[in-house]
Amino acid sequence: MNNFIRYFLCHKQHKKKYDYEFVEDLPKNLRKRRIYICANDGFAWQINFYCPCGCGTLLYVNLLEATKPNWRYEIDNKNKISLHPSIYRKTDCKSHFFVRRGQIDWV
Ligand SMILES: [Zn+2]
Repeated sequence: MNNFIRYFLCHKQHKKKYDYEFVEDLPKNLRKRRIYICANDGFAWQINFYCPCGCGTLLYVNLLEATKPNWRYEIDNKNKISLHPSIYRKTDCKSHFFVRRGQIDWV
């Protein structure tokens, strides 16, 4: 694939919206554009989703305040999910982005 096509595909891909789902256990087959909120008895403790850059890495986002680093999620009245703070992968693809209202905002 040449660079131009790769660039085009990446940017097209990045515009796609994410939805979310609460799960007790992570399903075997995960959707690419879905954020999985792992929760037991109404208590959410972890978020999983595929890295939006397309590298194929499954991200693990800790929600437990007692463990650092940790993140918070928010679902607005239009049913869109946001994560705080930004997600920065210091290894591999080094993606750095915000999830805001179901969309990826690259830093
Ligand atoms: Zn990535």
